[in-house]
Amino acid sequence: MTMRGRGFHALTVNQFDVPLVRELMERAEWLRTADREEVRTRLQGRIVATLFYEPSTRTRLSFESAVLRLGGSVVGAENARESSSSKKGETLEDVFRVVGCYADAIVIRHHDQEELDRAAPFSPVPIVNAGAGSGEHPTQALLDVYTIWRELGRLEHLTLAVMGDLKYGRTVHSLLRLLAKFPGVRVRLFHPAPLGLPGDLARELEASGLRLERVERLEDAIRGVDVVYQTRIQFERLAGEVDPQAARLYAITASHLVLLPDHARILHPLPRVGEIAPEVDDDVRAAYFRQVENGLYMRMALLDAMLGGERP
Ligand code: ASP
Repeated sequence: MTMRGRGFHALTVNQFDVPLVRELMERAEWLRTADREEVRTRLQGRIVATLFYEPSTRTRLSFESAVLRLGGSVVGAENARESSSSKKGETLEDVFRVVGCYADAIVIRHHDQEELDRAAPFSPVPIVNAGAGSGEHPTQALLDVYTIWRELGRLEHLTLAVMGDLKYGRTVHSLLRLLAKFPGVRVRLFHPAPLGLPGDLARELEASGLRLERVERLEDAIRGVDVVYQTRIQFERLAGEVDPQAARLYAITASHLVLLPDHARILHPLPRVGEIAPEVDDDVRAAYFRQVENGLYMRMALLDAMLGGERP
């Protein structure tokens, strides 16, 4: 599987097979340790456009830093839903056709995965999905598995607790699809009743070999697991289904840490808004800030594989 050429767009994790995930993780390791000057030649003379139709701080800055560290340049539109020609009614197809005349790749956060999938083939340059509505967030999943692999040394035969908003949380959708490609992965799901995995996604995951089990108590979710993947409730996408007070029942505090083995790791795509108490941060098993750093290198690896060419 190759990521070079006009036809490759990173829209869903379903495009990434296990060899490609491994190649990206190795490339990320290489970029992290390679000579900085050498790294800075990889995208020299290349321009990457970042178009953000939904709010983002870390993902946008992570992509922009990745481009700059690779020696490329960035042009961008933040708050594109309000400030770009989409306000005038321009289609996403046309946005891609136009921006594709300026840039060598387009990183986009959009509110609608289907619209993104439909428009991407019209782009003359690669499109990278930086999070689409409550659909997918493939680069977050790549950096999540990269973090698990770095911290635990494997992606096979893992038991995970996946918690929070599994209905609207696009990072969960992409992560579970990606983990389903590895053998022996078991997942305990812990979520407010209305915020379970969409039924068709749960069926797809089970058909691909992922073993899903719903649990009713936080303690039962996390006891003895290898990985806790905590997420926030996406209140901005809800219409009052969940009481903000009830969301507290889903928070991990220092008192839960005794239930976790020493090798276990706690991940969170961030931002957190109370689901992990700050006193957990000093525990070595809290991996969420290392996860942020891994995201930078994984996004560098993806852009480098798309635009930078062979690794020396
Ligand atoms: N930053 C992640 C995302 O863009 C997680 C979140 O917003 O809760 O999906």
